[in-house]
Amino acid sequence: MQDTFGRSINYLRLSVTEACNFNCNYCAPEGRTRIDASPLSLDEITRVVRAAVALGIVNIRLTGGEPLLRRDIVEIVCALVAIPGVRDVALTTNAFRLAELAQALKDAGLARANISLDSLQRERFAKIVGVDAFDLVWRGIETAERVGFAPLKINAVILRDVNDDEVNAFARLSVDRAWSVRFIELMPVGVTDAAREFFARHFVSAREIQARLPALEPVTSHAERGNGPAKIFRLPNARGTIGFITAASDHFCAMCNRIRITARGEARSCLFGNDGFDVRAAINGDDTKLQRLLTEVVNSKPECHPLGDEFQIVAGAMAEIGG
Ligand code: SAM
Ligand code: SF4
Repeated sequence: MQDTFGRSINYLRLSVTEACNFNCNYCAPEGRTRIDASPLSLDEITRVVRAAVALGIVNIRLTGGEPLLRRDIVEIVCALVAIPGVRDVALTTNAFRLAELAQALKDAGLARANISLDSLQRERFAKIVGVDAFDLVWRGIETAERVGFAPLKINAVILRDVNDDEVNAFARLSVDRAWSVRFIELMPVGVTDAAREFFARHFVSAREIQARLPALEPVTSHAERGNGPAKIFRLPNARGTIGFITAASDHFCAMCNRIRITARGEARSCLFGNDGFDVRAAINGDDTKLQRLLTEVVNSKPECHPLGDEFQIVAGAMAEIGG
């Protein structure tokens, strides 16, 4: 599927729940604005993905909220992997339930797991996410590695005066382990003064983070760079890599290959847009109705998200859209 700007759209980010057991302050700086709705069922998810795959989607990432809170998450992975044309089903998780679920997810056919981890210090971690769960999350990461999710990606949102003194500690994780540690620039979520102030106070640019790691060398091999938006580097003699995701300071709209579907069944053409195509309503027909709707979503993809003051995620929480 090509959008109106010639970009090839083959990637679906699918939120399977709005619910989350963590309360990361950057994810909902103005609190949750909507009450959790009932998410798409396993059957609805399967139908939507089948329609998307018929249009050219091949890679799917399950996100949320916290996807591992879905009781049927293993069944969802099984069902999606079995759809002819699906190349890769991956997951983004806070890893709270990963230690108990990693093996079942691997057996079900999950290809990869990206794990969010914003501090390596137990008490600070608890402060950021609102739950004293560092040990459990770390066990989840180790289990994920043991069952063979590779390369394991660790995503850290760096926040000024919160965890920006841990850049070197995060980077060191990539030296002894073949992990891909990715620094994610804070994105502005919400439109209230408090939300804007939160962003202004805590945003740290990738350029500033990179300047603190002068030994980084760019990675040139396509296999390690991948097709994603991250800019990839390596510390000398490191087994793993370091990436930067720069939605705020250096957008990557020109290579955007994705659409999103929220847990409550709305499709979005862009993370920063406010369009909500009602996918759930289209499920009740035959698949051509769904395919028409998803084609409309792709055709409405903007060339780029707005910059400056308008560069703002309009929902009250990333957990509602699926990060
Ligand atoms: N709960 C899962 C997790 O935390 O990995 C999946 C959903 S979460 C919304 C997906 C990703 O969005 C996480 O890596 C999280 O750090 C990131 N995220 C949430 N709010 C963000 C913000 N304001 N700026 C940048 N990244 C954000
Ligand atoms: Fe939950 Fe993930 Fe948002 Fe943190 S970033 S509150 S873990 S959805």
